Amino acid sequence: MSISFWLDQSTNSQTKTYDFIIVGGGIAGLSTAYWLQKEDPNAKIAIIEKDRIGFGASGRNAGFVTCGSTAHFMKLNQQFGTAKATEIWKFSEQNRELLKQHVIEDQADLVDYRQTGSCTVAPNEEMWQKYRDTAAIMKAHGLAIQEVDSNYMESDYGVVGFLGGIEYKGDGFVHPVKLLERLKAKLKVDIYEATEVFAIENHGKVQRLKTDRGVFESPKVLLTLNAYLPMVLKNFKNLITPNRGQILVTEPLPQFVKGPCYLTKYLCYFRQLPSGHLLIGGFRNLSIETENNLLDQTTEVIQEALIKFVRETFKHGKSAKVAYQWSGIMGFTPDEQMIIGTLPENPGVSLMAGCSGHGMGLSFHAAKVLAGNLFGREIPEHLNLKRFHKEIT
Ligand SMILES: Cc1cc2nc3c(=O)[nH]c(=O)nc-3n(C[C@H](O)[C@H](O)[C@H](O)COP(=O)(O)OP(=O)(O)OC[C@H]3O[C@@H](n4cnc5c(N)ncnc54)[C@H](O)[C@@H]3O)c2cc1C
Repeated sequence: MSISFWLDQSTNSQTKTYDFIIVGGGIAGLSTAYWLQKEDPNAKIAIIEKDRIGFGASGRNAGFVTCGSTAHFMKLNQQFGTAKATEIWKFSEQNRELLKQHVIEDQADLVDYRQTGSCTVAPNEEMWQKYRDTAAIMKAHGLAIQEVDSNYMESDYGVVGFLGGIEYKGDGFVHPVKLLERLKAKLKVDIYEATEVFAIENHGKVQRLKTDRGVFESPKVLLTLNAYLPMVLKNFKNLITPNRGQILVTEPLPQFVKGPCYLTKYLCYFRQLPSGHLLIGGFRNLSIETENNLLDQTTEVIQEALIKFVRETFKHGKSAKVAYQWSGIMGFTPDEQMIIGTLPENPGVSLMAGCSGHGMGLSFHAAKVLAGNLFGREIPEHLNLKRFHKEIT
């Protein structure tokens, strides 16, 4: 967003000063605050959020706490080779374990967390063969993978008409907003909601943030804005592409889907909530031209495809009624891996962004890396902002 000369009231109140200021109150922002607090328990930290905590993608996602689909691993394998693909997968395994250890603890029911395993459904013979080949590689690298047949797909995941699938045992799901609330309760930081940062001024040792609720100052600003990063740092326009995702939730149905499922042919994913509501998202590839933007809006073409899929594919979905429809915005980098690092032209600003459709499976761990970097630890090469320095300078 921009601000007019006339609307700018930022200098009308007293400047607020902090050791660290985090901009963006999603899973990335809260997690960054958590790890900074661990690094320096006496640090004075603020989070500034334009709307309210979780109002971005973090409160609008499907709640998959996963490492990704078999198709995802297949792509990583082609892009980076098997050793790196396995390392990237394991980064998400560690994310899940860190979340369990530090946030969920023994209170899984409070955040509706279940470690059910997840499944990638094979849409046709050609993909089924490719998935099985990929599964063999994954297994050989110690990942907890098994092939399941069409009967199992029907009995455990409630879908009919597919050849089979690849199940990965580690994955699970969570209520994303309950998870954010639990994480927020662990923070001893000041949170400013309904406060938009519209300019960052570099004054050498101090960064000055202009917001519609006054000026904030800190030697260190951390931007956790994901898809919205280019709105604040214009030179990230070619690095972060916004992609809208849409979700539909039906009325409660009998329990018949045990865990998160991917059908990547339609960029489609589904799961059933503990309440019985069936959640399904995706079909972005039906209308790419309308989905590459920052607008919170659902469209008929995608919502109709989602409910048609429910009624045609699920054994209990034939007459399912729609209960909720919504959208959210993801941020993608050119190689679809996150960026973490410090601005080359301004050591006072660091950031993480670009967690595509995997922020719940990445951000808690990525925030540990970001906070650790401020205290002298390295960022893994494939996540390091340095790989894109040319694009932003
Ligand atoms: C429909 C959908 C389904 C998804 N499903 C899954 C899933 O099941 N599992 C998974 O792992 N990932 C999923 N994702 C991706 C995941 O939700 C994101 O990767 C993750 O939430 C990103 O978190 P974040 O904190 O980086 O960004 P966000 O949650 O988007 O937070 C950024 C925050 O910055 C705030 N902000 C923006 N501009 C300003 C400003 N100028 N000043 C102050 N604040 C500002 C925004 O209001 C927002 O709250 C899904 C995403 C979508 C859209």
